[in-house]
Amino acid sequence: MRTCGGCSGDVDARFRFCPWCGAPQRLKLVEFFHPHPLVESDQGKALRVSRYLGGEAVLHVRLSVWSDGPAPRAEAAISLDEEEAERLTRFLAEPSTVQSTQA
Ligand SMILES: [Zn+2]
Repeated sequence: MRTCGGCSGDVDARFRFCPWCGAPQRLKLVEFFHPHPLVESDQGKALRVSRYLGGEAVLHVRLSVWSDGPAPRAEAAISLDEEEAERLTRFLAEPSTVQSTQA
């Protein structure tokens, strides 16, 4: 357990946000996303999304493509401001209008 800086409530260390007041418990959140399993050229890569929540860092989202191997490394990276990150969120949330014709 640790103490939330927002409300002083007890928060389990594995929580990213305080369940009582919603304050972020970390200044940087990172998630990795796997490539589509049927796109062969993307195997061995991962998309890393880092969300910087403040502190000394400016609020932004950083997207980077990582390749594995003996020394995993970022092949490319770009940072989005909050407005562009929200636009990306809306883009990904839109339902596909293309339906598969395969049964
Ligand atoms: Zn709190």
